[in-house]
Amino acid sequence: MKIAFFNTKPYDRQPFNVANEQHQHEIVFFECHLSHETVSLAIGFPSICIFINDYLNADMLEKLAQGGTKLIALRSAGFNHVDLVAASRLGITIVRVPAYSPYAVAEHAIALILSLNRKVHRAYNRVREGNFSIEGLLGFDLHGATVGVIGTGRIGAIFAQIMHGFGCKLIGYDAYQNTVCLAMGMEYLSMPELFAQSDIISLHCPLTPDTHYLINADAIAQMKTGMMLINTSRGALIDTQAAIDGLKSGAIGYLGIDVYEQEADLFFEDLSNEVIQDDTFQRLLTFPNVIVTGHQAFFTSQALANIADTTLSNITEFEQGKNCVNEVKIENAIATK
Ligand code: NAD
Repeated sequence: MKIAFFNTKPYDRQPFNVANEQHQHEIVFFECHLSHETVSLAIGFPSICIFINDYLNADMLEKLAQGGTKLIALRSAGFNHVDLVAASRLGITIVRVPAYSPYAVAEHAIALILSLNRKVHRAYNRVREGNFSIEGLLGFDLHGATVGVIGTGRIGAIFAQIMHGFGCKLIGYDAYQNTVCLAMGMEYLSMPELFAQSDIISLHCPLTPDTHYLINADAIAQMKTGMMLINTSRGALIDTQAAIDGLKSGAIGYLGIDVYEQEADLFFEDLSNEVIQDDTFQRLLTFPNVIVTGHQAFFTSQALANIADTTLSNITEFEQGKNCVNEVKIENAIATK
């Protein structure tokens, strides 16, 4: 099948070229995002493939439909960047990669925790400058700490397993109790109870209207003073301004984020020669107890290979008229709107 790939970097193309040896699709890679300016490139392609920062509203989807697009393959698990209702109305099928490596994201959350706790980011700079003072680098034992996991699905459960290995006490919040987590002794609590008891809170739930700004000023006020907050899920789970206020007051002692609510204007590009205009983001970077990474939690070689393989299999199934298990259905849209 002819597929137009948008928003691709060399690190995307390599695993797709390898996986395509088996599928033999006709792939054209574009570097640019899919936007109003570039949508004409998709004309004549029955299938397009996009990433999380290519936003498809009803208007964009209509343009794609007019150009002959029948299938949109998402190189992601999340689908909050596509208007599923409009896609369904236009007869466009959406497929995604529901799981590619929950280990990659869970392990990155741990990387943020360990770095923040033992101040590895600060120690790295000090030692390079010949400063061997350990003043200000005091950490705490993870063993015995209470870790609150919000969203105990695939990634949350693996995160919990790793923290269990450190000897942490696990508490969780989710509408569904995960048997793997229960078996490790996780206690499911209400959200206020979890806020009040956690030394570390890690977010692993999807972004939906219900979870938008889940962590706001009111939530932060219920948390233990000096707690650690980790977000590798979606930026808008946290009200960034409330987090900044919490950092300034000391309510939040550590913040580790791989996602940011306005990340679409920043992440995945080299902006090192530009003046960043987002003052909220720039304020975050001034705190010594904040680590921001640019949506790289998924970025392992295993995850990229799985994304490529599943995406091309999804497209092959669609081409062959088979029922695709990874199709995003209209019910998903209704559930998240
Ligand atoms: P999953 O569907 O397996 O698990 C999500 C869990 O969240 C489910 O158990 C669900 O019941 C729960 N949940 C839903 N609404 C909730 C709410 N209001 N409060 C608490 N829990 C709620 O998904 P997953 O594979 O574990 O992925 C989790 C999230 O990680 C994704 O939604 C995505 O946003 C994010 N993610 C980030 C990256 C990255 O690179 N940073 C990569 C992949 C996924």
